Amino acid sequence: MDQLKDTHHANHKAKAMGEDGHLVDPRTAEVTLAYLCAAALYNSTDNVVLLDNSNFSTLVYDTENAWIIEFYNSWCGHCIQFAPIWKQFAKNIKDWEHTVKVGVVDCSVDDNMPLCREYEIMAYPTIKLFASRCSQGDLGTDMVQSSSIDVIENNLIDFLVEKQKANNGSSTWVKLQPYEGTITDLWSEAPSPAEHVVVVMDQANSHHARGSILDLGGYSSVFMRYQEANAKDRAKYRSASFPVLIISDKTGKEEVINTNGKTHKEISALLMKKFGLNRGMLPYKNVLTGIKSKPAMKKEDMEGAGDGQPEEINSDILNYEDDLPDTAFTGSERQDQVYMVDIENAISYALNHEVAQHKIINGEALTSLQEFLDVLVRYLPARPAIHNFLSKLHQFTLNNGNSIEGKKFQDKIKALQSQDSVLPDHQPWIGCLGSHEKYRGYPCGLWTTFHVLTVNAVLQDGSKKYYNPKKPLRAIHGFVKHFFGCRYCSEHFQAMYAVDAESSVNVADDGILWLWRGHNKVNKRLKGDESEDPQHPKQQFPPKSFCPTCWERSQFKEKEVLTYLKGIYAKRALSFRGTQSVSSPVRNRPAKVMQELEGYRRDKKNVGTVSKRLSNSKQELQAPNSWGFNMTDISLCVFLYGISTVIIMSVYCMVIIRRKMRRRKFLEAYKLPPNAEKPLLEGSSGPMKC
Ligand SMILES: Cc1cc2nc3c(=O)[nH]c(=O)nc-3n(C[C@H](O)[C@H](O)[C@H](O)COP(=O)(O)OP(=O)(O)OC[C@H]3O[C@@H](n4cnc5c(N)ncnc54)[C@H](O)[C@@H]3O)c2cc1C
Repeated sequence: MDQLKDTHHANHKAKAMGEDGHLVDPRTAEVTLAYLCAAALYNSTDNVVLLDNSNFSTLVYDTENAWIIEFYNSWCGHCIQFAPIWKQFAKNIKDWEHTVKVGVVDCSVDDNMPLCREYEIMAYPTIKLFASRCSQGDLGTDMVQSSSIDVIENNLIDFLVEKQKANNGSSTWVKLQPYEGTITDLWSEAPSPAEHVVVVMDQANSHHARGSILDLGGYSSVFMRYQEANAKDRAKYRSASFPVLIISDKTGKEEVINTNGKTHKEISALLMKKFGLNRGMLPYKNVLTGIKSKPAMKKEDMEGAGDGQPEEINSDILNYEDDLPDTAFTGSERQDQVYMVDIENAISYALNHEVAQHKIINGEALTSLQEFLDVLVRYLPARPAIHNFLSKLHQFTLNNGNSIEGKKFQDKIKALQSQDSVLPDHQPWIGCLGSHEKYRGYPCGLWTTFHVLTVNAVLQDGSKKYYNPKKPLRAIHGFVKHFFGCRYCSEHFQAMYAVDAESSVNVADDGILWLWRGHNKVNKRLKGDESEDPQHPKQQFPPKSFCPTCWERSQFKEKEVLTYLKGIYAKRALSFRGTQSVSSPVRNRPAKVMQELEGYRRDKKNVGTVSKRLSNSKQELQAPNSWGFNMTDISLCVFLYGISTVIIMSVYCMVIIRRKMRRRKFLEAYKLPPNAEKPLLEGSSGPMKC
């Protein structure tokens, strides 16, 4: 594993350098996340049409055949699990092309975002059905999710039957509506090349009968129709005999075969054998593959790693003092080392894709986005330029009314990129690097981000009176609920949250432990799963090799686990290796404070903008701004300054008064005139001496 990482790192460092040896500026690189999501789950041998933004309209719109399309995401565990099912389904129905084609769209590919946004794909996998001659704006019909191939096939048949009935089919489709005539009459319908006609008789709404018609629909020498058995037919044939095949050839010779409950595949195999058919006779021998093969990755897309030197992190925002190992600065990396590059990748993908893919972000989703950004701004130990970017994006979501279009959000992300405000993309993974592109990556980076947030929230604010221990978890839950595209992951997480997150998180550390326990439940469930990277088997975390003291026989010692988690996820423990070089924002605090106060005063004069400004200021009171002070901090400073001035003045006055009183007592005691003090004190004899 380490070897793999080292090799990768070496490559990645090499890629970081431009030809002239200079570091590549991430902001000038083309905005594409291809690096993050190069792991397509399907290829041209999988009997599916590889659809993308460039070929979708040509292949799908205005065609005679229907489409069944899986919109997936290559990092999503459930899509990885579902891929073999979809491939088998596509293989089973590859002879149905005359009526329906199977397609796939990878929504993790940056170029496909407009397509996935247009079709409002909010969760993966999503399966959509399109009838004939669909056009832009037709969002298709969502198919109920199932991992059973039979159920998917049956649902598809029902869709085709319904569309054909409503005249949304095409003349090129096989006829799926029930036939009511005789076998002899069927010859009048059959096209001229037909050498056999077949009536497949079965109970009402038979999927097997219709399935067999679809199976053989590509052979011009056979013409088939489905007939629903009536009372007379049912009396004639025992129910177990259905589907019954009534076959007639050109000479008028008829034959009846009781299939005795055969499936459509078995019926098709039987008829193909009987009529001497083979798949080589089909007009379409090769299933279409996507027009566009994936473009070779451009050199500049691969570049962009850092120089290995940790940048200044926003230590002025996270000012907690703890006794944690500073591996980020020593360069010694442990097996459980947490890398900022994984976190930055996850955040970049989350915002650029998961959020931006929404057509409209409003209501609860918008609130969740605001809360998630708020928690990122507060507790993520991000590099200053990235922190700056997140602050600005947060403000944008707060100041943009009740809804934001996904496209506008995406444009804003681009617009906010500047010298000191950066959201890097496509940096090579380090800690979350899988042994194959389909493993790890984004979901691993997201878990890492969540753990870093819960830990740093506690280390920074956990001991403060106003700290709400539920806040980071609520923000994480909101993001997962509304934006995490892995449909089942999100549902599982929400179910887990609903059980006890709100009730069991009461003190600061509870949030860290709740997330740790939840993550371990997911690890347990996914052990041995299709999405498990064989090189990184799912295990209860931390294993004994990472933290021997966290275990007592086979049980965790939660107190030790807590200390361990605070150790590895704390700001100072993070490694910044592999992060792209970005410049730090100017940090002239006093000037910025003055500038901000000046702006505030100016606005106050302008009555029209006061209320808007006040609401902005309210937000500023809640969230630290890019230079780290919020209005509460500034007010507190002024207040403390005032109090200390008053105290110093009071002490000074008290000293003066007490001195004067002592002098008066002295003069009174020795009955001296008020001006007698000086000589007496200066002399060596007198009343003082006696
Ligand atoms: C919120 C969420 C829910 C998910 N639900 C599902 C699901 O239902 N089904 C599904 O197939 N996939 C799910 N996934 C994806 C899955 O959990 C993994 O992220 C993915 O399989 C990649 O696994 P990985 O080996 O990279 O390690 P991950 O599980 O992603 O872990 C990343 C890193 O976190 C550390 N870690 C591991 N466990 C813990 C822990 N308990 N506490 C603290 N740190 C830990 C380790 O260093 C590990 O390398 C979910 C992902 C997320 C973010």
